[in-house]
Amino acid sequence: MSDRFAAGDRVLLLDSKRRRHLVTLADEGRFHSHSGIVDHAQLIGRPEGTTVRSTAGARYVALRPTLSELVLEMPRGAQVIYPKDLGAILMAADIFAGVKVVEAGVGSGALSMALLRAGADVVGYELRPDFAARAAANVAQLLDRQHARRFRVEERDVYEGIVESGVDRVVLDLPEPWRVVPHAETAMHPGGILVAYLPTIGQVTQLRQTLADSAFGLAETVEVLQRTWHVEGRSVRPDHRMVGHTGFLTHARLLLAEERSDETAPPA
Ligand code: SAH
Repeated sequence: MSDRFAAGDRVLLLDSKRRRHLVTLADEGRFHSHSGIVDHAQLIGRPEGTTVRSTAGARYVALRPTLSELVLEMPRGAQVIYPKDLGAILMAADIFAGVKVVEAGVGSGALSMALLRAGADVVGYELRPDFAARAAANVAQLLDRQHARRFRVEERDVYEGIVESGVDRVVLDLPEPWRVVPHAETAMHPGGILVAYLPTIGQVTQLRQTLADSAFGLAETVEVLQRTWHVEGRSVRPDHRMVGHTGFLTHARLLLAEERSDETAPPA
């Protein structure tokens, strides 16, 4: 990656109030806002972190967007999973380069992008054709080719089954993940990890019951609370407002059914 901006790069322009504007640089491009115009030519060839001025004198800092910023700025159809939860999902699912993931439902593709950027090979199942198309477009337009080419979305109902085999991870963001547990048992090999993101605790209870009656073990449920701080001079304290709730994360590992030899079997 060059440190200089080039045509075709996605750039985030931050104004003095830290409002974010995502632009794609083009040789003849112009960024219009209520505080004037910035010609893309002012940015092309300049290093990241540059400050430019609009025709009306407004200052914008130009940076390449982070994954969090892309997720929050990208076009969305379905509700996306927020960055604080995306980070936790990558750890809970133990995502690394080359790991084979089945993800359902795909929605706008925010979680897909996080999995892909961490190096996973992702097959996404999505019921709705419009969301599948949205997610495919977001991944193709917002991620580097090296990550985007590891993604495939299929219009499928995951409750009906998983056609892939030898899967390492099953990552779920849909209303009834317990219906996927039996399919995950056969699609994954032992040691595989299932992760489900759920907004309400009733859903979590139902999933945990199904997991308890399955070949999965080591189930855990967590929620991620993130509190930002206000840091200004001597006023250093938590911000007044925080996102109180997004969803619960449940993860479990596929175990091998215990083999009973005659010696270890309990007496009849
Ligand atoms: N995690 C996504 C958002 C997913 S929203 C993101 O971060 O962008 C939930 C999605 O699950 C919706 O798009 C919905 O259409 C899809 N869905 C619901 N039930 C499904 C099923 N049985 N099979 C596949 N997709 C399903």
